[in-house]
Amino acid sequence: MRISPHVHSLLLNFEIELSSGVKIPRFVPAYVIEAERLTVVDTAVKSSAPTIFEYIESIGRKPEEIEYVINTHGHFDHVGGNGIFAERAKPRFFAHPKDKAIIESLEYQERIRPIGNMREQNTSGDVAVTDLLNEGDTLDLGGGVQVEVFHTPGHSPGSLSLFIPEDGALFCGDVLPEPGTLPVYEDVRQTLDSLIKLRLVRGATVLLSQLSDQVWRGDDVYAHIDDGEAYLRRIDRLVRQAADLLGEKSSREEICRVVFRELGLPEAASALPIVQTTIMAHLVTDPLGE
Ligand SMILES: [Zn+2]
Repeated sequence: MRISPHVHSLLLNFEIELSSGVKIPRFVPAYVIEAERLTVVDTAVKSSAPTIFEYIESIGRKPEEIEYVINTHGHFDHVGGNGIFAERAKPRFFAHPKDKAIIESLEYQERIRPIGNMREQNTSGDVAVTDLLNEGDTLDLGGGVQVEVFHTPGHSPGSLSLFIPEDGALFCGDVLPEPGTLPVYEDVRQTLDSLIKLRLVRGATVLLSQLSDQVWRGDDVYAHIDDGEAYLRRIDRLVRQAADLLGEKSSREEICRVVFRELGLPEAASALPIVQTTIMAHLVTDPLGE
């Protein structure tokens, strides 16, 4: 659906199948920027590509016209369609240098971040990142539509946020911890610094966060960034309390379970390696404070 004059958001559903056969329903938003240079922000997973192509046709454009694909970061559910897009449209692929390796190598991705049937849903491995985006870069999509680039690490080392001043649209990828959902980030201090950076972007009137199916507008944009920061600080406090309470011999999973109970999150999720990594990341940095 159209979110702002040049931005369309598509909510794409898929399943992660674990080795046990259990299927976990997931979603990820991807975006089409309708400017002279047709641009897609994140290609979701392999099975999402036909939905994105059909949507592009529904707005009177052709998938073959896609000139740019921007990957906000290298996780499989943001780059999984890259190979299909490369076959169909031969676009340029943009990403931050620090996530280039994970986008281009499924072996590397599987080693550092194994997730269920990720490999079946990820076609990014055969496709080169053709262009690197860094903090302060601007991408010209033609017709007065520009994309400003912010390096906002924490969720991954090369996570990018994007801002289109013409539309007031701020894309924060998976950087903003979404209150009430499972926290997933690699570096706590970097996540906090990235939220502070997003808070300083002037003129954002629409917030697009890929950890949610919602869109925030007006004053809610900055209020929601503040809510994400408060959630991060609360988790930080709870992790330290749990670690003190349980003592040195406690396992990662036990600490997660106590924290998730406090947060009202499903305790079964404390067995997931990616959330254990998130929770333990709090204990290798100084307290964030309030
Ligand atoms: Zn991610």
